[in-house]
Amino acid sequence: MPFYRRTLKEKGVTPDDIQSLADLTKLPFTSKLDFRDNYPFGLMAVSMEQVVRIHSSSGTTGKPIIAPYTQHDIDIWAEVMARTLTSAGTTENDVLQNAYGYGLFTGGLGFHHGAELLGATVIPTSTGNTKRQILMIQDLGTTVITCTPSYAITLHEAAREMGVDLRDSTLRLGIHGAEPWSEKMRADIEDRLGIIAINVYGLTEVIGPGVSVECPYKCGMHIWEDHFLAEVINPETGEQLPYGEEGELVITTLTKEAQPVIRFRTRDIISLNPEPCECGRTMVRMSRLTGRSDDMLIVRGVNVFPSQIESVLLEVEGVEPHYLIIVDRQHAFKTDELEIWVEVSDEVFSDEMGKMENLEKRLRSEMDSVLGIAARIKLVEPRTIARAEGKAKRVVDRSEL
Ligand code: AMP
Ligand code: ZN
Repeated sequence: MPFYRRTLKEKGVTPDDIQSLADLTKLPFTSKLDFRDNYPFGLMAVSMEQVVRIHSSSGTTGKPIIAPYTQHDIDIWAEVMARTLTSAGTTENDVLQNAYGYGLFTGGLGFHHGAELLGATVIPTSTGNTKRQILMIQDLGTTVITCTPSYAITLHEAAREMGVDLRDSTLRLGIHGAEPWSEKMRADIEDRLGIIAINVYGLTEVIGPGVSVECPYKCGMHIWEDHFLAEVINPETGEQLPYGEEGELVITTLTKEAQPVIRFRTRDIISLNPEPCECGRTMVRMSRLTGRSDDMLIVRGVNVFPSQIESVLLEVEGVEPHYLIIVDRQHAFKTDELEIWVEVSDEVFSDEMGKMENLEKRLRSEMDSVLGIAARIKLVEPRTIARAEGKAKRVVDRSEL
């Protein structure tokens, strides 16, 4: 693990320095940038023969985040996910329809492993094909739906169009996460689908889903501290904050083999509550996410960084380095639609229309392949995007236009 060997040496930390939990603060932080700089395998702690699976998520620029797992890691993942599902209220008697994406994204397979270990019946629908999802709910007697909160709303809308009221279905529980949502959104989902909606949290760098989840008391997400050690820091100073104060969540993995992380800065803003919960669980609870300490956006469940968009734009000829990312924010850093305004050069603009059209097409397909989601591209005349006087404001909410 050349990366950790180097950073620990730079900090002058040796194994003897770590005697108690309080010594954790002697260890250096790990960030998304470290993943980028050591792409693909610089943070890996085992040889490739021991790796049985690799997942991936968006990084801050062109390079994705790579997440390798040993068989032991997969077993632990299944265990924390089985625990997660149980805490949410799932049992072996449930029929669980898993509408998180299967594939490189950790959501689909993470929930799948946990549900099988628990002994529930899994229907691996993955995302999309919404009509079929509704049919499956009706015909197979689905009791638990796992998907992003925005997809839960989509399911309701599609069902309504089909003349189906999901409140009359067998559905009783939804386990939602991977993107920010509010208490208001929870009430809305519970009402539309006639279910109990539970918040679940995780991230690729740490394991995927299965880091924390609510219990039926819905008063914060219990973190599985026997595998994931949580701290909260001041994102500006890096100083550790006491329980109860809001700051950036930092996680150290205790049992991961293939790619353990030391003090990973999640950039997610939360607070921790160590009080025992009414459910009887004693593991620390994290609050709902209130924001990010970086500029990451989540568009329909996919992480998007303005820097990724910029790196695409700067490689395309005929485009000026002036752009605006327009979002329809519903909650914190989540948006359903992504629109990018791009200034074109004088040359492209004064040319016959064909060039503009080609440019737009090219940008759309480049964005699609780099971001993994479709963005609307709007080409604008030279010198029409306001120039910054200090920090450029790249992300604008449509309501501010
Ligand atoms: P990924 O690694 O692609 O699964 O993305 C992980 C990120 O998704 C986290 O760092 C959070 O910013 C966001 N996320 C995951 N679960 C939740 C949740 N329950 N509420 C809010 N944001 C979440
Ligand atoms: Zn609890």
